[in-house]
Amino acid sequence: MIIYGTKAVHLKSEQSVTAICPSCETQGTTIFSVFRKHAHIFWVPLFPIGKVSQSTCEHCKATLEEKEMPATFKRELDVVKSTSKGPIWQFSGIAIIAVLIVWGNFANDLDKEEELTFIAAPLLGDIYEYKMTSNSYSTWKVVGVSSDSVEISENQYEINKLSKIYKIDKPENYSLYPFKIAKTTLQFMYDSGDIKDINRD
Ligand SMILES: [Zn+2]
Repeated sequence: MIIYGTKAVHLKSEQSVTAICPSCETQGTTIFSVFRKHAHIFWVPLFPIGKVSQSTCEHCKATLEEKEMPATFKRELDVVKSTSKGPIWQFSGIAIIAVLIVWGNFANDLDKEEELTFIAAPLLGDIYEYKMTSNSYSTWKVVGVSSDSVEISENQYEINKLSKIYKIDKPENYSLYPFKIAKTTLQFMYDSGDIKDINRD
């Protein structure tokens, strides 16, 4: 299984009327072929990485790579090359990546929008993921809501990776002694980036 690499796609072949084969010296039997290589990963073409060419004599079957060709061949080859365009699908991977980035940003915007409504109107059971110090994170659980404040039960555990915070978010980890915090303070912590994420079932 080839996960990544390069692959050549045939673009064009043209038979020359003037070229004389260096091997058998027959005129008009040389065919120039142009290929375009592209990088691929998991069978998805990413982007083109240049053209490769060869000439083949129909008479004696001699095949020459571009670097082996005489100057007269190269001039003819350049014309064939300049009129051969690669298929647009060789850019498929780039298109897929662009779509994923746009979609990722869109999903992220939706997530942020949702969090703004969560912080503005807390509900019982909301979980706040927050930063304790520069390398420790923990969670708060909303256990009471009044008009201008929220009762918070603090997680007794902390973890050094925000991406692993779900590991400590267990019911038995939360304190039985909640404290009160003003909604404006929560909003401030969210705006300043100390509250990293809000989860609501
Ligand atoms: Zn030949």
